[in-house]
Amino acid sequence: MKLAFFGAGGKVGRAVVPVLERAGHSVRGIGAGDEVDLTGLDACVDFTTPDAAPRNVRSALEQGVSCVVGTTGWDTEEVGELAGERDLRLFVAPNFSIGAVLMMRFAAEAAGFLPRAEIVELHNEAKKDAPSGTAAATAKLIGGDVPIHSVRLPGLVAHQEVLFGGEGQLLTIRHDTTGRESFADGVLLALSKLAELPPGLTVGLDALL
Ligand code: NAP
Repeated sequence: MKLAFFGAGGKVGRAVVPVLERAGHSVRGIGAGDEVDLTGLDACVDFTTPDAAPRNVRSALEQGVSCVVGTTGWDTEEVGELAGERDLRLFVAPNFSIGAVLMMRFAAEAAGFLPRAEIVELHNEAKKDAPSGTAAATAKLIGGDVPIHSVRLPGLVAHQEVLFGGEGQLLTIRHDTTGRESFADGVLLALSKLAELPPGLTVGLDALL
């Protein structure tokens, strides 16, 4: 596919763009302040900031281009409606890593048996939003009022523990992202399924697996 990548120069962009190119996609990187001309492109990918993503996605949809979005910490409902009105797709995932999606699935299953849960999410200090989109999505899957603890420190990439406490036992489900290349498989999957999705907003890699 011919792609635009908003945030190609960022930490995720620098890791994911080469994988997309090796998979046969052609990628036009768009940075802050660049002109957003998407003429002739098939889809766009956004890994930017919660401030920039709504503008980027709106601009893409207005130019008739469907979007795959990894930027977390913003409200996607409104642009989702715009996508639906224009018969376009907006795919948003709080986590594009397959291991993290499995961690969420296993946590949802465990919650049926061990209802007392807390989440600890740990990310690099550069991450602007807290709690992480993955932690918020996991809490929603578990249900009830699940406390989330957010840690922002240098030396971290993206990590999450879901702790289930019971009488005399503790179950910990943990996922560690050690390299941002881990997000590329999810982006590739989303791009390959984009045209098959219903118009409007689809949330979560789970919907594609
Ligand atoms: P980052 O290193 O700060 O990169 C963000 C990039 O976006 C920078 O290159 C920045 O350019 C660029 N940018 C800012 N405004 C822009 C605009 N208006 N148009 C185009 N590009 C713009 O952040 P990151 O670690 O790559 O993460 C990016 C986002 O993805 C964050 O929201 C993060 O939480 C999220 N994320 C999601 C997942 C997932 O699986 N869903 C995984 C990891 C991260 P300048 O440096 O020139 O400002």
